[in-house]
Amino acid sequence: MYIDPHIHMVSRTTDDYQRMALAGCVAITEPAFWAGYDRSTAQGFADYFRLLTDTEPKRAAQFGIAHHTWLCINPKESEDVGLAREVLGLIPGFLDRPNVLGIGEIGLNKNSRNELLVLEEHIALAKRYGVLILVHTPHLEDKLKGTILIMDAMRNQGVDPGRVLIDHVEEHTVRHVLDRGFWAGMTLYPDTKMTPQRAVDVFEVHGTDRLWINSAGDWGVSDPLAVPKCRVEMRRRGHLQDAIQKVSFDNPLQFLSQSGRFRLEP
Ligand SMILES: [Zn+2]
Repeated sequence: MYIDPHIHMVSRTTDDYQRMALAGCVAITEPAFWAGYDRSTAQGFADYFRLLTDTEPKRAAQFGIAHHTWLCINPKESEDVGLAREVLGLIPGFLDRPNVLGIGEIGLNKNSRNELLVLEEHIALAKRYGVLILVHTPHLEDKLKGTILIMDAMRNQGVDPGRVLIDHVEEHTVRHVLDRGFWAGMTLYPDTKMTPQRAVDVFEVHGTDRLWINSAGDWGVSDPLAVPKCRVEMRRRGHLQDAIQKVSFDNPLQFLSQSGRFRLEP
């Protein structure tokens, strides 16, 4: 039994839900993100939020998977601050839907001034409503710089780091994130960036506290079965079942349960 705490089912097929269920997936969370194309109006985001809070939970439930979500305008589309503020204005209207865990995945893409401004407004929104935060860190060479900027923005607004998960960490950022009290997520890609093998190396160096793994499956080259594949890699290397269960089930359960809305049954 496992949880995939970060996957974009908007761009996956129903067959993927079926294969994930067969591999032992019981619950997922789907952060709002770039959907593979730029939306031209705030109404485009309202439709997306309806998909995340209504359509996907029903599609997942067909396979016994509990679906949860996070809402925001992603950093990639946040360059247009006017559009971003319109979308921010829509979010409170969706926050009381039963599968919404919080604000995410917010963060930085190119570490630009506008992205940082919109990030700060999302953090303020999360604080106002007392919800959890899921963070995207840039995939570029300035991942460390972006990660530190994001953590500083959280500190400046007095956010409890125990209620924030910083995702897409790599070998050179994971220690910074954990040392400041945040939770950290490793996204497993089929052959670039963080592979299942590299993730297991990170567990062997940094331990398994406050760490989770996810597939971040989306419209690009990605693998909705990345989490079970990482579990197999841990087992192959002789890790005990307790450790495997901790990173792929217990840790996500512990972090997400802080929302009061997370559940294991659809
Ligand atoms: Zn994502």
